[in-house]
Amino acid sequence: MSVTEEIKSRLDIVDIVSDYLPLRKSGRSYAGFCPFHHNTRTPSFYVFPETQTWHCFGACAEGGDIFSFVMKKEGWDFKEALAKLAQKAGVELEPLKPVNKKKQAAEDKMAALLEAAADYFHMLFLHAPQGEQARRYVGERALNDETIATFKLGYALQSWDACRNHFHDQGYSDEELLAAGLLTENPDKGTRYDRFRNRLMIPIRNVNGRIAGFGARTLEKDGIPKYLNSPQTALFDKSHLLYGLDGAKRHIREARQVVIVEGYMDVMQGWQAGFRNIVAQMGTALTEPQLRQLKRYTKRFVLALDADAAGQKATMRGLQVARETLDREVEVKFDAHGLVQYEGRLQADIRIVTLPEGNDPDKIIREDPTQWPKLLEQAQPVVAYVIKTATRDLDMNDAKGKTAVARQVLPLIRDIADPVERDHYWQALARALRIDQRALRQIKVPTKKTYARRSPPVQSAPSNQPPPPPPLPPELEAASTTKPGAIIRRTSDGKMAAGMRQTNYLSQCLHHPHIMNQVNQRLVQNQQPPVSESDFTGSEDRLLLQQMQHWQGQATVASVNELCDSLDNTLNERAQALLALPAAPESELEQLAEKLVKSVLDWRLNQTMRLNGEVRQLVEEAKAVNDTHALQTYARQSLELSRQIRNINQARHAMSAVSRRKAEDSVR
Ligand SMILES: [Zn+2]
Repeated sequence: MSVTEEIKSRLDIVDIVSDYLPLRKSGRSYAGFCPFHHNTRTPSFYVFPETQTWHCFGACAEGGDIFSFVMKKEGWDFKEALAKLAQKAGVELEPLKPVNKKKQAAEDKMAALLEAAADYFHMLFLHAPQGEQARRYVGERALNDETIATFKLGYALQSWDACRNHFHDQGYSDEELLAAGLLTENPDKGTRYDRFRNRLMIPIRNVNGRIAGFGARTLEKDGIPKYLNSPQTALFDKSHLLYGLDGAKRHIREARQVVIVEGYMDVMQGWQAGFRNIVAQMGTALTEPQLRQLKRYTKRFVLALDADAAGQKATMRGLQVARETLDREVEVKFDAHGLVQYEGRLQADIRIVTLPEGNDPDKIIREDPTQWPKLLEQAQPVVAYVIKTATRDLDMNDAKGKTAVARQVLPLIRDIADPVERDHYWQALARALRIDQRALRQIKVPTKKTYARRSPPVQSAPSNQPPPPPPLPPELEAASTTKPGAIIRRTSDGKMAAGMRQTNYLSQCLHHPHIMNQVNQRLVQNQQPPVSESDFTGSEDRLLLQQMQHWQGQATVASVNELCDSLDNTLNERAQALLALPAAPESELEQLAEKLVKSVLDWRLNQTMRLNGEVRQLVEEAKAVNDTHALQTYARQSLELSRQIRNINQARHAMSAVSRRKAEDSVR
């Protein structure tokens, strides 16, 4: 038994989920309000003890196992989820295997190199005659020696090879310097040179204080780019790092609030003045992983935004495009809609403060530190901020303008998780626009998209009227006339088979990597989405697929061994087990692609029918208790699932027609 299976066998998904939300028994399953989307009227979140899986039949339209649940809920990666659940289950995780030790050793060596580089740049900053300009720049910012030492500010010489030579002498190779992002390579000429030249060097640490990379500010007037960061490396991932968090975390907890600013200097200036709960975004994006990381220390976030006019316009544009970004990971500079959703998902309190024109936190704190806390007190909740910004220059005699603003803001209000808060903003918007709330409620706004992965959004039914019951696909027609249990038995058999099909698919793709593309092409030709993570139930398999796709997408094709080496212990174990299964012979590859496509379609069909079976039961229950809203919700899902089933069947028929023709041709 693999370690994940062992953990799954010892824990019950119902217990684990119950730690996060109340569940009530409903037939063979357990129901609750979905913790991942706004959902208060009809419970759309279901846990199935038989299969140890969960599924949201509402906006999320996705599901998974015990691992994916805690990963999503806690923001953990697979490794963290594994460690936490193993502990809970009393399963001991094996120590690192040699391959991972090798990877670990490479990362440790890179970390040591970065640490040495920070020391090297710091010494140049303090003592090199060429570093005068850097010292002057920092002097103008009034940073004192203690702050300079705490943040280990550095200087990179105006040279193409000073850093390279320095570390060659210490025994590091070009490859190691490239991997750490200290060297750059010109791909056309093959020349290698120092990445950072004549710049103020700012070491960027991860949450544990380990140096992950550098931010480097130009010291030349009009130097481009103003800030140059380390490239993405094994240790440097901008979307997960926040500048200053290692030092700030204790203070964030104490202050019960984190302030998110835009620049490195803002963090250092705040630190020096005693405002130590400040972190900076890396570059321009604020991502959900970053917010989740912060949420370990506080639930209250204040965003301090620059006041520049472009920022204000971006806000409004952000609102307009927000509709389309709903089902993606939102990653724009400031997106009110994204923030409101984060708030709901993270159960956080996000506030915004705009800095006075032409000021940044660095300048404000430097000129008058007492202004900083006063400014923060003016921070407003996201929706209040947007209402204020959107109505600031609005002509109250311009009816069309008012409608336009209402249309922009209403979707935000509708996404607020808390009903009292939501009502509060209905009133606030009506007041701000000086119109009657009833008129406001009549404004039609495009409805929110469902998160259905495999299909275009479902048209929502006109209000008050439940949609007609969805037509049954032929496979279910027979089943529905028998007891509901009949569907279940059929599909739980199907589920077993689906697991085996998934295993076979992964195994063959590991043996014959290029088959992945062929399978996907054939699926797309038959109007089916390519194989994706959502096709798999097990978190291990989802992650493995992700890694395999990443590996496939790379320009240089690495060997299976290299893929396995790059995997975590547990995933590697799974990959090894899959590789131990027999490979299809090279002579049968053409047929293999075809077989796998059919296999994918079969398991998709099984899974979708199983889900539809569950939803149809919910429809019946809702009818029995005359709950119109629930009926509407579930019927819509069932309609969508039935549509998917029809499409899968069409693809299956098309595929078998093709293979029949081929068989006939070969006979002739
Ligand atoms: Zn949901």
